[in-house]
Amino acid sequence: MLVAGIDVGSTTSKCVLLRDGGIAGSALVDMGIGTAGPERAYAEALAAAKAAPEDIARCAATGYGRATWRGADFTVSELTAHGLGNRFLFPGARTVIDIGGQDAKVIELDAGGRMASFVMNDKCAAGTGRFLEVMANVLRIPIGELEAMAAQAEQAAPISSTCTVFAESEVISQLAAGTPVPDVVAGICASVASRVASLAKRVGVREQVCMSGGVAQNGGVRRALEQALGVPIVWSPQAQLAGALGAALHAYHKSN
Ligand code: ADP
Repeated sequence: MLVAGIDVGSTTSKCVLLRDGGIAGSALVDMGIGTAGPERAYAEALAAAKAAPEDIARCAATGYGRATWRGADFTVSELTAHGLGNRFLFPGARTVIDIGGQDAKVIELDAGGRMASFVMNDKCAAGTGRFLEVMANVLRIPIGELEAMAAQAEQAAPISSTCTVFAESEVISQLAAGTPVPDVVAGICASVASRVASLAKRVGVREQVCMSGGVAQNGGVRRALEQALGVPIVWSPQAQLAGALGAALHAYHKSN
């Protein structure tokens, strides 16, 4: 039996198809709510699984735009979906740190994988992918290249403002003062990590800690977060699909 999970995000759309509980196909499209991104992600995941729309027994939608996906039999909250998806990827996970395009969440899972508590920042761009996008734009560096740049840093430049607009001015001042770009990029990664670490400390950090969402792809942020929390963080290249995977798992369990 084939089921689908779709995550209609603020900046990206992700789709995962499960066949008999295992991943049969997936897709990620860099276009989120209000675009053709969800349709494309769905079509690409179907193509990857060599399946047709009529093969899908159930579909669950999650993400900021979950209510806009007309093909959903169920909607599932982002917290539930990310908890389920991350636990599938990391069976020992007790703390999930998800940093997406416009929010960051920290979810505590109990020993059975159920959500015990959570804390979320969806009010402010600092500590989210949006912060990195603004800074990458100032530096004229593609977001995917920030990690390699941060790896060349000698010393992370301090970015003390908690507000994205003020932090942007700080970055421009650092560049004007001649601070090497890699040091500035490392400072930007540390700033995201520090904001998210204070969220995580409010929930209480329990190992194993895993990271998901688009920003998890940046090893500079992952390492800065490990330093800020003092624990190792596990991650998978599929981590940005965790929400869609969780939605697909929800659809799978509901169908059985
Ligand atoms: P959403 O579901 O809100 O669209 P995602 O979890 O898909 O969020 O993450 C999207 C965010 O991840 C965007 O802000 C994007 O800039 C960021 N992102 C994607 N790739 C990278 C990368 N390699 N390094 C840092 N940030 C990244």
